[in-house]
Amino acid sequence: MAQNPGPLQPEALKALQSHVRGELLLPGDVRYAIGRRCWNASVDRKPAAIVRCEDAEDVTQTLHIATEHGLPVTVRGGGHNVAGRGIADETLLIDLSRMRAVAVHAESRVAEVQGGALWHDVDLAAARCGLATTGGLVSSTGVGGFTLGGGAGWLMRRFGLAIDNLRTASVVLADGRFVRASTDEHPDLFWALRGGGGGLGVVTGFEFALHPVRQVYAGIVVRPAEEAALILRTFRDFTMEAPDAFCGMVALIHAPPLPFLDAAWHGRPVVITVLCWSGDLASAEEVLAPLRRVGSPIVDHLGPMPYVQWQHLQDVGAPSGRHHYWKTTSYRSLPDAAIETLAAAALALPTSLSEIHVQHLGGAVARVPAEETAFAQRDATIFVNLIGTTQWPEEFPPMRERVRALHDRIAGGSLQRLFPNFSDRDDGRVADQLGPASAKRLQALRQRYDPAGRFTPT
Ligand SMILES: Cc1cc2nc3c(=O)[nH]c(=O)nc-3n(C[C@H](O)[C@H](O)[C@H](O)COP(=O)(O)OP(=O)(O)OC[C@H]3O[C@@H](n4cnc5c(N)ncnc54)[C@H](O)[C@@H]3O)c2cc1C
Repeated sequence: MAQNPGPLQPEALKALQSHVRGELLLPGDVRYAIGRRCWNASVDRKPAAIVRCEDAEDVTQTLHIATEHGLPVTVRGGGHNVAGRGIADETLLIDLSRMRAVAVHAESRVAEVQGGALWHDVDLAAARCGLATTGGLVSSTGVGGFTLGGGAGWLMRRFGLAIDNLRTASVVLADGRFVRASTDEHPDLFWALRGGGGGLGVVTGFEFALHPVRQVYAGIVVRPAEEAALILRTFRDFTMEAPDAFCGMVALIHAPPLPFLDAAWHGRPVVITVLCWSGDLASAEEVLAPLRRVGSPIVDHLGPMPYVQWQHLQDVGAPSGRHHYWKTTSYRSLPDAAIETLAAAALALPTSLSEIHVQHLGGAVARVPAEETAFAQRDATIFVNLIGTTQWPEEFPPMRERVRALHDRIAGGSLQRLFPNFSDRDDGRVADQLGPASAKRLQALRQRYDPAGRFTPT
C-alpha cells in the first residue's frame, strides 16, 4: 500500500508546481476549501492537495509525482458520489473538472467525452445533432463515476446502461502508462471499468455510442400518498411487460412546490409516477394509459418535449450542499411485503426532504450477458433507493437510523448485490458489493494494474 503522506512534503509540492500545468489547490487556499466540497455536504474530507489536471499528460505527470513521493491518489469526476468515493483525507486528489470537452461525430454516432465531463455537457452536445445516449436523471452528475458504476437513465431499456454504450475508455494507469480499453484492447480492464466502480486508473476519455432521439413523451402524475401501495403494485406489474421505449419511476416524496400543482398540496406526502416514453410519440398515450388512469390523480402533467429538456427537469430537485444518506436494494421481483412497507413509509418519511425512488431495469439492460461486464444487476427488475436528505447536520444521525431501519424492513426477497452508484459509506467497498466472483476478479486486476496500491480503494 502507498504510505501515508502526512502534510505534502516540500519536494512533492515543488515537483507538482513545476511539472503540472493545471491548478494546484492547497490547504489554506479558499479555492481548496471550495474544491474539496462534494455534492453530499456530509462528506467532509481533506486531501493533501487537489490537482486540477488540464489533460491526460497532466494526469500522467501527477501520477509520476505521486509514485515518486509515495502519495496515495483519489480521482474526482463530477463529485456526486453520495459515499464520497472520489475524495479521501491526505491523498493527492486528481480533479478532472477542467477536462469536460465533448466532441460529437454525427455520422458515426459517437461521442468522445473527456473524463471530467458532466451529463449535461454530453446531452447538450449530442442534442445539437438529434442524438443521445443513456445518461443520468440529474444532469450535473459526472459521466466518470456514473459510467464506472453502470449508469442507469431514461434510455437504458432501449439502448442499455451507459456501460453498454461505452465503446472505448482511455486510461492513465497507476504507473503513468496510457492505454485504451475496449473489447479488443485490454479487455479485462474494459470488463472492470464497466460496473466495477473505478479504482484501476484515471479514465481521461470515454467513447459512447449515440442514438437518434429528439423528442420524448414524458412528465409526471401526482397522487395522494395513501395510494402508494396501489401505484407501486400497478407500476411493478406494468414494468414486467413494458416495451423497451418505456422507462419510469415511482417517487414517494413530500410534494415540491410545482407551479402546476395546487398549492394546498405543497409539502404533503404524495406518490409521483415519473414517466418517459422514447418511442413513437403517436403511441405514447395508449402505452402509458394504464399508469395514468389508475387511482385519483391530483395532477397529470405529461406531453411531448425535447429529450434534452426532460434531462434537465429534475436538476432543481437535487442541489448540492444538503446532507445525504442513501440505501439501495434490488429485486428480481418486488415482493408485496416490500410494497406494503414502502407504502406505509410514504406517510412517514425520515425528513421532509427525504424521498424513496422505485425504478426498474429490464429491456436492453437484461439482454447483456451477466459475465460480459462487472455490473451485477442484470437480473434485477426493480431497484429501490432510500434517499435520506436534510439541510441540517443535527438531523443527519436520526435520519440515517430511520433510513437504515427501513432498509432492513424491505430486505426480504432482495438480491445480495448492490448497485454501486447508489450505495453509501457503510456498504463497504464497491468490489464486495458485486458478489464474490467479481470481487475476486477485481482484486486480481487491481494487483495487475495497480500493484503498489496507488489508488485509494473505492
Ligand atoms: C443527484 C444525483 C442523481 C443521480 N442519478 C443517477 C442516475 O440517474 N443513474 C445512476 O446510475 N446514478 C445516478 N447517481 C449516482 C451517480 O452515478 C454516482 O454517485 C456516481 O459515482 C457519480 O459520479 P461522479 O463522477 O459525479 O462522482 P465522483 O464522486 O467524482 O466519483 C465517483 C467515483 O468514480 C470515480 N471516478 C469518477 N470519474 C472518474 C474518472 N474519469 N476516472 C476514474 N475514476 C473516476 C471516483 O474516483 C469515485 O470512486 C446520481 C447521483 C446523484 C447525487
